[in-house]
Amino acid sequence: MRLLVPPMQVHRWSAMSDQQIATKPTFGRELENRTVLVTGGSRGIGRCIAENFAAYGSRVFSCGRGLRPKDLAAEILWWQCDVADSGAVEMLRDAIISEHGPLATLVNNAGVQIEKTLLESTDSDWETVMNTNARGVFNCCRAFIPHMVPRGSIINIGSISGQIADPAMALYNASKAFVHGLTRSIAVDHGASVRCNAVLPGWIMTDMADAAFDLANDPLKAREDALARHPVGRFGSPQDIASVAVWLASDASEFANGQCFTIDGGMTAASPLNPGLY
Ligand code: NDP
Repeated sequence: MRLLVPPMQVHRWSAMSDQQIATKPTFGRELENRTVLVTGGSRGIGRCIAENFAAYGSRVFSCGRGLRPKDLAAEILWWQCDVADSGAVEMLRDAIISEHGPLATLVNNAGVQIEKTLLESTDSDWETVMNTNARGVFNCCRAFIPHMVPRGSIINIGSISGQIADPAMALYNASKAFVHGLTRSIAVDHGASVRCNAVLPGWIMTDMADAAFDLANDPLKAREDALARHPVGRFGSPQDIASVAVWLASDASEFANGQCFTIDGGMTAASPLNPGLY
């Protein structure tokens, strides 16, 4: 019988038939040597996603507004690039594809957050939030889609805040709703050449989440309250999001397109009613 994978790569164990051995899962092997760009990989979720792709053997590029972080893994290639600047994004694209060919996976992770209601928000707040969270995703998708491998994958990092309104986060909430809408449009308009999905994190413990808790009237109580609303009994970690991003880039998810995957430990699955009263 002809095996689907070379026998050298097959780990045999006794109770399996040849057919089972031939189809033994080899998750993520295809990610090796694929070119991946993760925006906003200097810290937090983006850094973790970039490190995960590197661990799968992908050629990983990342960017941020600042200089290369000193502790970034050596195998991750760094570009100083503000995704809000379409010219800078095009320069980054040209640099990547001229040396490494078409991009296999684009992860639009770069994001900023401002905690204000609509009436508190200034023109400058609009520019800060919308230019990175909305225009940045637009800039990167527009620049890279014509230069991606056939059946490439775009993964946009949205937020549960784009589905349900976090208080006093008007522009942020709206910017993430834009990301979810754009994800569906790209999936519909360009689905023959590229898959586009969004990952919607809940409370993931990063600098951004810490900053949001620090602004609460009582940060400790706010943390306790948020934790109690997680059926899984914990906050999320960057790895929780990176695992889904890797799956969405892999061939295992090749029929997933135009979807928003909420990863929040079940928090938004719960009814808002107080269970103690029922
Ligand atoms: P962090 O603030 O920890 O990291 C944000 C990253 O984005 C940094 O690397 C930052 O680098 C980069 N960045 C910001 N603006 C730009 C820009 N204009 N151009 C290029 N890079 C930029 O955030 P998180 O890791 O917490 O969040 C990552 C993503 O996940 C964001 O899109 C966020 O909205 C989303 N998210 C996070 C949640 C959480 O609980 N943490 C929940 C839901 C969604 P630099 O400052 O050097 O430019």
